[in-house]
Amino acid sequence: MPTDILLEVSNLCKSFGSLAVLENVSFNLRRGERIALIGPSGSGKSTCLRAINYLEPPTKGDVVLEGQVIGRRRNGQQMSDREMAPQRAEIGMVFQHFHLWPHLSVSENIVLQPRKVRGMKSSDARALSAQLLSKVHLAHKADEMPQRLSGGQQQRVAIARALAQQPKVLLFDEPTSALDPELVGEVLTVIKELASEGRAMVLVTHEISFAREVADRIIFMDGGRIVEEGDAKAVLDNPQSPRLKQFLASLQLSGGGHG
Ligand code: ADP
Ligand code: MG
Repeated sequence: MPTDILLEVSNLCKSFGSLAVLENVSFNLRRGERIALIGPSGSGKSTCLRAINYLEPPTKGDVVLEGQVIGRRRNGQQMSDREMAPQRAEIGMVFQHFHLWPHLSVSENIVLQPRKVRGMKSSDARALSAQLLSKVHLAHKADEMPQRLSGGQQQRVAIARALAQQPKVLLFDEPTSALDPELVGEVLTVIKELASEGRAMVLVTHEISFAREVADRIIFMDGGRIVEEGDAKAVLDNPQSPRLKQFLASLQLSGGGHG
């Protein structure tokens, strides 16, 4: 097995009752690789990200991070949340709606995970929080409460929080689609900076021009399956499947893929 593979997703299936939402989704993420996961609403993108860190336990299939099976013991039984916590810390997640704790300050939101999951000393966690807040250009907001920040700023705090776990992989689920259009750019800039540091990421986005610029590889999903994948520019400039052609055309009609 080539050692540059960081994350292996194999034959992931997820059903809700009789509704099959993921059907044999398989892909590998290499070290430093950036994958953009695109597809119409309801195609299973969020479920796929959530299944990767067992927020949504898959019905079938495996997720393996650096040789370690996520979420299941050797005997195949599902781990408890407590057992899973260190594995989940390796997989940072950024959601559409930020999910910051409203009763905690910006910096308290960030120090929580490294304290809890990594057992980091309070002073070290504070130093890390300060460093990460400067990385997302919010050093001056450390003591602010989340609801006093704009959506773009809240999302950048959420990114700093995900980084504070010191994850090996970052998963972004439409990180800009809840934002006012004028706030999208500041969040994309931060993601671009992280990408240029060589961080491995899977990014669900409708920002196709951003995906083209940042991603190495595109995976296009429809109806819970991977329909097409390949080099980002090749896939976007020369889509093969009628379904992807149609999807890209519909994004152009709706204004270049914003939202
Ligand atoms: P996407 O992120 O691509 O829009 P989702 O992964 O959110 O798609 O959803 C895929 C399908 O799974 C949709 O039909 C959605 O309604 C269904 N679904 C998602 N979560 C649940 C759930 N907890 N229970 C039942 N159906 C769900
Ligand atoms: Mg979604």
